[in-house]
Amino acid sequence: MSRVVVVGGGIAGLSVAGLLAVRGHRVTLTEKMFELGGRSLMQERDGFRLNYGAHAVYARDRSAMQKVLDALNVRVDFATPHLDMVRYITETGRETGPSVSLAGLLHTKLLPGFRDKAHFVHAVLSILAFTGTPGDSVSFQEWLDRRGWTLATRNLLLHLVATNFFTEQPGDLRASTVLGYYRRVLRTHHPVSYIVGGWGVLVQSLRERLEEAGVQILEKTAITALQFEQSALKSVQSRKEVFEADIFVLCAPPTALKKLVADTPLSPFVVPYAAEEPNTALVYDVALTKRVRNDVSYVSDMKRHVFITDPSLYDSSCVPDGGQLLQAIAYTSAKAADDEAVLMERRKAVESLYDAYYPGWREALAFSRVTDQAVVQGIGWGREQKRLPMHFHDFPNVYFAGDWCDAAGSVSDVAFDSAWTVASAVGMAF
Ligand SMILES: Cc1cc2nc3c(=O)[nH]c(=O)nc-3n(C[C@H](O)[C@H](O)[C@H](O)COP(=O)(O)OP(=O)(O)OC[C@H]3O[C@@H](n4cnc5c(N)ncnc54)[C@H](O)[C@@H]3O)c2cc1C
Repeated sequence: MSRVVVVGGGIAGLSVAGLLAVRGHRVTLTEKMFELGGRSLMQERDGFRLNYGAHAVYARDRSAMQKVLDALNVRVDFATPHLDMVRYITETGRETGPSVSLAGLLHTKLLPGFRDKAHFVHAVLSILAFTGTPGDSVSFQEWLDRRGWTLATRNLLLHLVATNFFTEQPGDLRASTVLGYYRRVLRTHHPVSYIVGGWGVLVQSLRERLEEAGVQILEKTAITALQFEQSALKSVQSRKEVFEADIFVLCAPPTALKKLVADTPLSPFVVPYAAEEPNTALVYDVALTKRVRNDVSYVSDMKRHVFITDPSLYDSSCVPDGGQLLQAIAYTSAKAADDEAVLMERRKAVESLYDAYYPGWREALAFSRVTDQAVVQGIGWGREQKRLPMHFHDFPNVYFAGDWCDAAGSVSDVAFDSAWTVASAVGMAF
């Protein structure tokens, strides 16, 4: 069996390390930070547990995540939100419920007229039945425009895509990616779930499984250089140690890879991907000493491009007794990073939604946490965007995994799917 070094201990690195170790490979996992998890880290403070990034799990019964967890025999518990507590605020400021059940479809103001409702049903059936693959150059907007559905139907579809792909420009995504994603989601029994205890529980469970499978886990070990002999990667190096192996799986983001591959033959292959834009969002969490509202689990504002989730409604372990935890996400673009006025406007949009839906939150505030430019997905799914391949033929013993890779799904499922694909490819090749 082969010696494998995995660089990066986010969920892609953890998954690929585990999958290869249970197949008998000798695996070392190096993570530059003091703990594993990457953007699936969970922060604990004053009895509150806050996910840094990953929150919900979409279509878990059809996800790559579930495949990975099953293969590793890792079990976590899931909680399911109540649909009757989901609220939408339409572009015209009207509050309404979702359209996903028959009763919801009949009553929702998202689809006010009979034609809107009929077209929405037609859209769902078309996506389910769609067997062709629009080329990568066809955007979701172009695909929609050819359908002739009512404006309300198209706007709702765009809004759903915006929230599932965490983007302000849903029309710009590749139609093939969006349709593939919804074909899976529309067949699911579990559209949205939350991990009981937060994503830290998943990271810890994966860690325990890796240890059982004999993976050597090295935290605070940043890889700083790669040594090639022609097209074969021979070793990677931290400040203190050199790690030799037969196979290397690089699960660090493209910006980190750019530094790592400098002056190596991999450089011209990898560096262009570091210039691709990530999907970013402003995250504004509030931890409250008491519950200020109990009847809304999720509210999505179509005009402000903000949604708020109340994970403490499903999972009492993320708050101290009587507390409430609200997590708001406002989409931004990577360009907004340099524009304080845009970021301030996004923060104000979140606060005004909190004011409207959770009056009293300011008085009950224990603390808040704002991340202006959280990277939701390492490289977005825009039509013009190129995602990092998981393997280049020229470098037979080097693989890549992470949510910036050209794998299936959205957000963390891309990380799981790339890990699965790489582990399968390594299994066949070595
Ligand atoms: C605000 C927000 C909301 C999100 N919501 C959801 C959601 O609802 N559902 C969902 O499924 N996903 C969600 N995500 C996405 C999810 O968090 C990510 O897709 C996932 O965590 C990415 O995992 P990864 O392993 O691909 O990358 P990362 O987590 O970025 O892991 C990369 C790792 O590599 C390490 N590293 C970098 N350089 C080196 C080096 N030189 N040497 C060693 N290690 C190195 C880093 O420290 C890091 O640990 C969200 C993300 C954010 C930010």
